[in-house]
Amino acid sequence: MRRWNGWGDESIDMTLPASAESLLSELLGSSAPLPDASLSDVVGQVPESRLAGIDHALLERDAEIRIRHARGQSLPDWLAMRSGHFGIFPDAVARPESGEQVRELLELAAEHDAIVIPYGGGTSVAGHITPAESQRPIITLALTKMNRLLDLDEASGVATFGAGARGPEVEAQLRARGYTLGHFPQSWELSTLGGWVASRSSGQQSLRYGRIEQLFAGGRIETPSGPLDLPTFPASAAGPDLRELVLGSEGRLGVFTEVCVRVSPLPDEEIFETLFLPDWQRAFDCARELVRQRVGLSMLRVANPAETFTGLRLAVDKKQLGWLERLLRLRGIGEGKCMLTLGCTGHRPAVHETQQQARTVLRRHGAVALMPGKLGRKWAHGRFRYPYLREALWRLGYAVDTFETALDWSRVDGYIRDAEKRVGTALSDQDEPVHVFTHLSHIYRQGSSAYTSYLYRVGNDYDTALERWRIIKAAASQAIVDWGGTISHQHGVGRDHAPYLQAEKGELGLAALGTLFRRFDPDGRMNPGVLLPEDKP
Ligand SMILES: Cc1cc2nc3c(=O)[nH]c(=O)nc-3n(C[C@H](O)[C@H](O)[C@H](O)COP(=O)(O)OP(=O)(O)OC[C@H]3O[C@@H](n4cnc5c(N)ncnc54)[C@H](O)[C@@H]3O)c2cc1C
Repeated sequence: MRRWNGWGDESIDMTLPASAESLLSELLGSSAPLPDASLSDVVGQVPESRLAGIDHALLERDAEIRIRHARGQSLPDWLAMRSGHFGIFPDAVARPESGEQVRELLELAAEHDAIVIPYGGGTSVAGHITPAESQRPIITLALTKMNRLLDLDEASGVATFGAGARGPEVEAQLRARGYTLGHFPQSWELSTLGGWVASRSSGQQSLRYGRIEQLFAGGRIETPSGPLDLPTFPASAAGPDLRELVLGSEGRLGVFTEVCVRVSPLPDEEIFETLFLPDWQRAFDCARELVRQRVGLSMLRVANPAETFTGLRLAVDKKQLGWLERLLRLRGIGEGKCMLTLGCTGHRPAVHETQQQARTVLRRHGAVALMPGKLGRKWAHGRFRYPYLREALWRLGYAVDTFETALDWSRVDGYIRDAEKRVGTALSDQDEPVHVFTHLSHIYRQGSSAYTSYLYRVGNDYDTALERWRIIKAAASQAIVDWGGTISHQHGVGRDHAPYLQAEKGELGLAALGTLFRRFDPDGRMNPGVLLPEDKP
């Protein structure tokens, strides 16, 4: 059963090694957890639905289902769920099973002047699906039941799915036919195809398979102005591509009911390796060279010294770590080391050739592999488990969150240093340290994404925890804007990033988007307040 107030399945828990607690207390000071509200406390607060009088089989109005669809996974969402102070709940949740039912629901919403929030897996970390206060009733339209593989055109390598298929559902249905989509965001367990397209998601193996923009071939959207069909051309010069227009639309245009994606035959070999480089400069140069030389990796990520230090200490127990660090020192790798993880995927001979090419570059930059393959396998095995760490840290009284951007190479290093400094000192007025660390998560020939995590003490109450987050988030977002990065490389805009969007789109660009949304949604009922800030519900 999915947790109602946190990440993932209730039966899965992550524990930290005993040494982690002392590390956190050394870095940030000792802390204590805040009390969690119970589900029954929250059920008691859910107000009567403003859609109570409507007799329609698809509208579910019981308190628990409204609670379970009221929040995503941003830190403010997390604090709301743990404290039980949700604020606003949807008035009803609808879980249609077909495109026709989605259309029927949009008509029902129009009849009752209701807002519609399309909901995929609810894994948004930017406030995409959190209802805001409104005079109008709110229907959250969850695509969960539309999760089937509808068609597989093997000759073209195009699969059509119901838009609510979650990552494991997509892969299991394709795998049974010998294919993979290859889209593996860290939220893969719970996020959906429709959500990936609507928020321009990026998977961990995008170096091989591409971001969702490259995987998205077409589909169907039900909008308040009618259906929009997007045919699956391999390429087109027929004016602006409407597929680009709907990618990243964050529920503002309508509801994806069917999504067509470009799939690949299952690879017969996949190898992940973790290596260590002596310092940040060499790790940075090495990653850039691997991509510039077009070494055919499926994944590449590089942790800076702070992330390498933190990751090792939070994941490995003291004795094993001591042993690992001694071995690394013998190979000339000490303080300031950086961890690099790479993946090679495909047909066996090609995978081995890629490994050889990568090793040549890695050696030139002083990379050292310990226990070849073992650390990489450990990473691959645990890659969808890391989000559960938020629970473990919470139980010790620490909050963890992330922010991310992408920039051209000429600005990546300066940005990371400055953003880490601003975030690390964001709470200095309160004498509170923030522990901050970064990795390059998606690496391109032109530049890189920079994915930063930070930890802080929750303080004595929920208001303090939220206020600390607000200060840090503002410092991080301002650093991104000041360095000319995009406000999001993969998490999307939602409500949290909307105030910063004008810096990259410009006034005219934002106005054009607003006009476009109105054409599909003249009454402004599709997820208002998300993506475009001025457009309040
Ligand atoms: C632990 C964790 C790790 C993450 N890792 C990654 C990562 O590696 N890469 C990455 O890209 N993101 C990541 N994310 C962010 C998040 O998973 C993505 O934004 C994802 O694409 C959201 O998909 P979802 O199905 O959960 O959509 P939701 O959160 O339900 O919705 C997101 C937006 O899409 C819209 N939407 C959803 N479904 C539809 C539909 N059928 N039609 C129209 N609009 C729709 C919603 O209205 C909303 O605006 C992570 C999040 C968490 C919590």
